[in-house]
Amino acid sequence: MGLPVTQWAYNLLEEKWIPVLYRDGKVDRVGICKALEDARTIRQVAASNPMDRVAILRFLLAVLMWCKEDAKSSLASLDEKSAGIPENWLAKLKENKAAFNLLGDGKRFYQDESLKGKGPRPIGDLLVEFPGADSVNHMRHVVHDSSYGFCPACCAMGILRLSVWAPANRFYPASVNPGSAAYAFIEGKNLFQTLCANLPETNPQADQAPWLGNEQPNSPDAVARLAWRPRKLWLNVGSENDPCANCGSFGELITSLCNEGGWPTPTTSSQEFAKAVETEFKNLGYRTKDKDQANKNAKKVVKMASLIRKCRMDDLRKACSQSNPQPQAAAPTTQTDEQEIARLFHQLILKNDKSAQEAIKALTKKPNEEEQKALGGGDMRAKKFWDADPHLLRDGEAISLPGLGADVAMHSSQFWRDALRLRRGQVGRVTAIGPVVNKFTFQDGVSIALPDASDDVKSRANLSADCGGELRGLFKQVTQNPLRQHPEIDASVKLLTPNAEAQIRDRLSRINASTGDNASEDRAFLHEVYAPVVEQVIASVTPGSPLRRHATRNHARALLNEKIKELVEKPDHLSNAGTPAAVPGKPKRGRKKGGSK
Ligand SMILES: [Zn+2]
Repeated sequence: MGLPVTQWAYNLLEEKWIPVLYRDGKVDRVGICKALEDARTIRQVAASNPMDRVAILRFLLAVLMWCKEDAKSSLASLDEKSAGIPENWLAKLKENKAAFNLLGDGKRFYQDESLKGKGPRPIGDLLVEFPGADSVNHMRHVVHDSSYGFCPACCAMGILRLSVWAPANRFYPASVNPGSAAYAFIEGKNLFQTLCANLPETNPQADQAPWLGNEQPNSPDAVARLAWRPRKLWLNVGSENDPCANCGSFGELITSLCNEGGWPTPTTSSQEFAKAVETEFKNLGYRTKDKDQANKNAKKVVKMASLIRKCRMDDLRKACSQSNPQPQAAAPTTQTDEQEIARLFHQLILKNDKSAQEAIKALTKKPNEEEQKALGGGDMRAKKFWDADPHLLRDGEAISLPGLGADVAMHSSQFWRDALRLRRGQVGRVTAIGPVVNKFTFQDGVSIALPDASDDVKSRANLSADCGGELRGLFKQVTQNPLRQHPEIDASVKLLTPNAEAQIRDRLSRINASTGDNASEDRAFLHEVYAPVVEQVIASVTPGSPLRRHATRNHARALLNEKIKELVEKPDHLSNAGTPAAVPGKPKRGRKKGGSK
């Protein structure tokens, strides 16, 4: 039986591939058009893997921004009228319907015909968690011999996931952000509100959308970056009708793919500037590979270029005018920052006396505290990622979950505290999602709901981290030899930490308007969470008679109360909690203490 053409081409606008949960509890799969038209009645994108929820949401945002330039304000005004997305908004999609064909003979969605016929890879490559030949062994393990395949819906989701999570290695670039980055989204009551709340504020369109052409955009706009294409792909359709190895749906399957590196991760603006300075040095005859002092100095300047531009230009000019009392030919009037920096340092390097050397050293040293404050979040970044990503959780660098090798207490508490701290004043319920990608092996995908980040919540999150960090020391104090290592205490604290962390999260998500007496509420909160931990640890590690256990427990309780009092009354937790996201740099609280004792 021949398949109808539309089914074979598998048009993503119309085919049912996006898993959604409707507000009435119905679960379905829909195409892009229906997802947008029904956005008011859809509760959320309901993919089982949290990574797909991020990828699909970001893709829908890109589509929406491409269809409607003033999407954010228009959606907000529709929301006031409780109206859905009208059909005429989607006219541009329908005009370009052919661009959304996943399969078929013509142009294909996110695929590059130049790869057709090249050496195929197993289709399992597309979904990192799929239990294939060389990943960690699973109960149901698959041999990569083309004996299995994925349905087009699973392939479409796998392709979109690459935009957000693709890991980098020798052969392939990362996605628009590093492969294990974490993202946070505001949750609306329905998909419509979620889309509206998470759209970037501005939408200047510069390039054609990534689904229209294979070429990397020169100056990628938000649409291109939300739907980045870090891989060149081509899907090979197998002939038989079988159940999909990933989701079980029956139909024609894709059994292999051709895969090459695609668009490289865009550089941040500070990296662009460093590159420009490097080019200027090259024009002046410097070579980065040479190891002599002059080239080393030039390299240092390139590394610190955006810091110098922002904070040290006056010092640089002064150093140059001092070392050249008779100014040479006047500097060209129309010179760019990068030209000026390279030219002035070139003068200093040529001079090469003691004062010039000292000036170079002072101008290329690491930023001091004051300069740190003046620098934007992205000015000294090492990794490439999208500077202005509206959803990325970043703290200077993009943050990710701690590796699975990390201490269990760190693992359970670090990510959600970071997410809470970095949610950038977003109002409403927020979900943060991040995968753990360890040596290119997918290990976990985590989705956590964050409470409203009021100052109360943040200060209690910090307090609880501090208190949790003090526990081990406290338990050692009540033993007969407090100076010794106590592995049994460490083990039982570790064991109880995930539960305590879950309780903290639960309580913070239900926090109500404060009754005014913050300090006593904070004390009660810490007590409720940690008193049971103290009881359990003492019960499990204290040897000896019941009398001795009783005495030890009382002692530990008293110490806990004392510690809580001390922490709550310490003045700095409130001031810290108020503006944590505004201060870049390492969070002081909750990390080191919990980890390394
Ligand atoms: Zn499937």
